[in-house]
Amino acid sequence: MIKHVHVVGAGLAGLSAAVRLTQAGIAVTVHEATRQAGGRCRSYDDAATGMHIDNGTHLLLSGNRSAVDYLKAIGVTPDFAPANFRFVDGATGESWILRLGNGSLPTWIFDAASRVPKTSLLDYLKLLPLLLGRADRPLREVLDRESELYRRLIDPLMVAALNIDTPSGSSLLASQVARETLLRGGEACRPLVFERGLSTAFVEPALKALRERGAEIRFEHEVESVTTSDRALTALRFRDGETVLGPEDAVVLAVPAYAAAALVPTLKAPDQFRAIINIHYDLAPPDGSPFMTGVLGRTVEWIFAFRHRISTTISHADRLLTLPRQELAETAWREITDILGMNAPIPKWQLVRERRATFAATPAQNARRNETKTRWANLAVAGDWTDTGLPATIEGAIRSGQRAAELLSNR
Ligand SMILES: Cc1cc2nc3c(=O)[nH]c(=O)nc-3n(C[C@H](O)[C@H](O)[C@H](O)COP(=O)(O)OP(=O)(O)OC[C@H]3O[C@@H](n4cnc5c(N)ncnc54)[C@H](O)[C@@H]3O)c2cc1C
Repeated sequence: MIKHVHVVGAGLAGLSAAVRLTQAGIAVTVHEATRQAGGRCRSYDDAATGMHIDNGTHLLLSGNRSAVDYLKAIGVTPDFAPANFRFVDGATGESWILRLGNGSLPTWIFDAASRVPKTSLLDYLKLLPLLLGRADRPLREVLDRESELYRRLIDPLMVAALNIDTPSGSSLLASQVARETLLRGGEACRPLVFERGLSTAFVEPALKALRERGAEIRFEHEVESVTTSDRALTALRFRDGETVLGPEDAVVLAVPAYAAAALVPTLKAPDQFRAIINIHYDLAPPDGSPFMTGVLGRTVEWIFAFRHRISTTISHADRLLTLPRQELAETAWREITDILGMNAPIPKWQLVRERRATFAATPAQNARRNETKTRWANLAVAGDWTDTGLPATIEGAIRSGQRAAELLSNR
């Protein structure tokens, strides 16, 4: 029986595994390579601007049940906004609000006033092959890319959810996202607002809960290599020494795909990644600005109006990585002021480029994901890149950690 688990990596996958394990009464030690927890989902005080920002503005929906369970387990009550999403067409200036209501079925597609403008019920029914298909195909083969529904809703949603150019995206990942959110009506699509930053919701309360349950959390404690025998993982090696694993010890490896593949080369792992760029501006938005605005046909894709700052997210952003930071920040600011109807010079800003934000959500990369269990009974893997059926998201990361914890607690 497993009595002690070493969780390697304190991103959301590692934290959720640790929370579940301590709930099951199992002793936990978390080893994190850096000085802080949260991994790709973290907040920090930005010295250059004085802003408290997230590395990337993250969107979570009420239908993300594993994430909601995790928040409850660490004592956080999620605060969800109504499922109303404002969109602006950057080419024509036309804007509309997609109102998904608050029911548990997508009844909004039957109501012309709630639907995306210039779309008919038939356009939505044409998505059925995507939802019912069992083979993983590039979305270009399953979606009608000429339709207004594609241009005005499916494309922006898929770029955001899969972080890939939609035509190359995996049909299975896209349909799973739709099944867990859009198909479950407005009730499952209410966005969670992180006004005080991601770490306040996902990270600090988890660390507190873990410490209260006796878990040990070691920062700057990178696992540099592992030792295996035929039957088990036998030791973890750190710069300051080695931890030998006994028969009652196990490991959850919850590091990014490239780190997992370097430590345990026999694991399956995606090897292509996509960037996300976020720009944060130190200026309060105009009164009455919607919390989120989806933007079509411009450089910025989503504008977030926080109480004291404005942030924008650009997904699938590899094409912009070589652009000078100042130029990109200025272009985005021009677009934001235009869309939010502001007349203001560019304020202090910070631009965060996450080059390996997510694995590339193509069918080929989706086929390279390892399941939770490994050939060693005392090693489980977790992380947004493991085979959760979801793209690389908070929900996938948290679910993967919970699965790894359940696997080991039942051993
Ligand atoms: C800019 C950006 C925007 C995003 N937007 C969204 C969004 O809107 N909605 C959404 O749902 N998701 C979003 N995501 C994705 C989401 O952040 C990730 O899917 C999730 O945070 C991944 O968590 P993880 O625990 O799997 O991995 P990570 O967060 O990468 O955590 C892995 C941890 O392991 C540590 N580590 C690595 N190697 C070692 C080692 N050898 N020893 C010890 N520790 C090690 C790392 O330091 C890190 O802390 C976004 C990601 C980014 C970068």
